[in-house]
Amino acid sequence: MALDDYRKKRDFTKSPEPAGDKAHRSPAGRKARFFCVQKHLASHLHYDFRLEHDGVLLSWAVPKGPSLDPAIKRLAMHVEDHPVEYGEFEGVIPSGYGAGIVMLWDTGTWTPETDDVEAALKKGDLKFTLDGYKLKGSWVLVRTKGWGGGGSSRGGSEGKTSWLLIKHRDDWSGPVDIAEFAPLSVKTEGDFADILAQDNPDIWRSNRPAEGGDTGKLFQSIITRALALKAEREGKAPPTKTKARTTASKAKGPASKKKTAASKKR
Ligand code: MN
Repeated sequence: MALDDYRKKRDFTKSPEPAGDKAHRSPAGRKARFFCVQKHLASHLHYDFRLEHDGVLLSWAVPKGPSLDPAIKRLAMHVEDHPVEYGEFEGVIPSGYGAGIVMLWDTGTWTPETDDVEAALKKGDLKFTLDGYKLKGSWVLVRTKGWGGGGSSRGGSEGKTSWLLIKHRDDWSGPVDIAEFAPLSVKTEGDFADILAQDNPDIWRSNRPAEGGDTGKLFQSIITRALALKAEREGKAPPTKTKARTTASKAKGPASKKKTAASKKR
C-alpha cells in the first residue's frame, strides 16, 4: 500500500512521528486539499514539500527550499508518501531515519490546475495553486530526465525521481528569498532551538545527526541555545537580563513593550 515505504523506514516505538493508521479521503478534481512544507534539519537541511492526494501526502524533498523567483528552478526529490496526519507534525526525531528537528514551515491548501492529478503525475508535469501563509499563487512540479528520472532504481514501484519546483510568474512571485525572509514555524512561531527546547535538548550530547561541516556546526549552536532556553524556562539559570525584562513587562502590561524593544537594541 501507499504508506508501506513510510512505515518500513521508521520504528514508531522510538519516533514521535505518526504511524498513519487513520483513514483519509482526499477530494477529487479541482478542489482545495491540504499542503504543507516541513523544514527538516537532519543530516542536511532541506524542505519537505507535501501535497495531499488520494488519502496520503505526496512528498518531495527540496534541498534549497521553494523560491518565489520564476527564474529559479529548485530540485525536488520525490520521496515516499506520508500519512495525512504527518502534515501537523513538528518536533524532534531522536534517532533513526530522518533524525533531527522538523519545523512546520508553511501550511494551507493547494488546488490542482487540472482535473486529473494522476495523469499529471504520470506525465511528470503537475500545475497547481498554493494558498499558504508563505507560499501562494501558481506553481509547477516537473519531472526531469536527469539523474533518477523515471527510474525505479531502488526496486520499489516508486523509485526516487528528481523533479523541479518552479514558481509561475504572478502577483505572488518576486525576487524574495522566502526561506530567509520567513524562517520560522507557522505552528509555534519558533525556530529550531525553540522546538528542541520544548523536547529534550540533551538528546544529542553524543551522536548528533550531523557531526561535521556546516550542518554539524548548526546542530551544535542549536543544541547550545536549546539547553539555555530550557534551563531559563525551568528557572535553573541565574537571573538574566532577558528574564528580568520579561517579568517586568508582564507586571507592567503592554505599556512597557516599547521600552523592552528599545532596551533590546542596546
Ligand atoms: Mn525530510
